[in-house]
Amino acid sequence: MSRVYNFSAGPSAFPESVLLQAQQEMLDWQGSGMSVMEMSHRGKHFSLIAKELEADLRELMAVPENYKVLFLQGGASAQFSFIPQNILNGKTKACYIKTGAWSEKAIKDAKAYCDVLVSASSEDTKFTSIPDAATWALDSDAAYLHYTSNETIHGVEFQGIPDAQGLTLVSDMSSNILSRPVDVSQFGLIYAGTQKNMGPAGVTVVIVRDDLVGHATKLTPSVFNYAEQVKNESMLNTPATYNWYLVGLVLKWLKAQGGVAAIEQHNIAKAAKLYAAIDQSSLYSNPVDVAVRSRMNVPFILADEALDKPFLAAAEANGLFELKGHRSVGGMRASIYNAMTDAGVQALIDFMAEFERTH
Ligand SMILES: *Cc1c(COP(=O)(O)O)cnc(C)c1O
Repeated sequence: MSRVYNFSAGPSAFPESVLLQAQQEMLDWQGSGMSVMEMSHRGKHFSLIAKELEADLRELMAVPENYKVLFLQGGASAQFSFIPQNILNGKTKACYIKTGAWSEKAIKDAKAYCDVLVSASSEDTKFTSIPDAATWALDSDAAYLHYTSNETIHGVEFQGIPDAQGLTLVSDMSSNILSRPVDVSQFGLIYAGTQKNMGPAGVTVVIVRDDLVGHATKLTPSVFNYAEQVKNESMLNTPATYNWYLVGLVLKWLKAQGGVAAIEQHNIAKAAKLYAAIDQSSLYSNPVDVAVRSRMNVPFILADEALDKPFLAAAEANGLFELKGHRSVGGMRASIYNAMTDAGVQALIDFMAEFERTH
């Protein structure tokens, strides 16, 4: 068996120790005599897994008591529609910051439920920057302000929490959740698909302040009604049980790494050395404003597009996979989430230098 370095944007690389633990527990979870996959979600074994999952996430993110934590299905994309349905609470407007492909999708879906005010957009820079918050046009009648904390495709990341000027702040943290500490109390709602930084695809985390729960429209399906799911501890219907278990293992791994503050230091170091390698080369470049470069997704282009295919082929020959950029932006992208090792990043840097030398 040989494993490659996987730079996929999502689903993405796992910590190897988690995969091994899942393998060991596959047939018999901790003496239960069954696989987690086979357990009733209402049984005593799975109840323990579910309790620890929520407790570990609360601990890692220091989630305050007055916030609910939900583990839903449908992906982060389902929340693009279900956030307005749950929290507009009779209001007719919401503010959105447009910084890339994912915020664009959130905007598109929200338009079915309210007047979307695009308070700021970096489209004129081809989504390589974040507009200065002083220029944002916020409307105090809006139900909330939505932004995407890390644009997975464009490689643009907010480095701090924006000033919502009194509006309820909502953030799609799908691709940088748990990669750096965040003060949850600044938010009304945080959501994230798990397949970037928390585990496998199939679970969507929603962390929501309790006063925002209980205002869903009549047309909101029960399984996406936050109040219904709060009441049922995310088990209004059958949850994605095995995926919950895997997310739980990733959270325990993260705790063993020292938690979010410790992994942030690794992430800073990994990203810094990859950007440094790109910046000092004459073959590779990254188009993003240095101040808002993503620590998680590092897009780069080659000076000569004709080298793209040879680059990808040679990378794979060297055990470096999934480096092709998103089809909408082209070029390359290295996703270096929490689970990407320093050795993986170093192998990529070494390969890039060698490819530049020989081309
Ligand atoms: C991947 C991603 C999504 C979409 O997640 P799904 O679970 O596929 O719906 C949404 N937002 C961001 C920032 C993402 O990276």
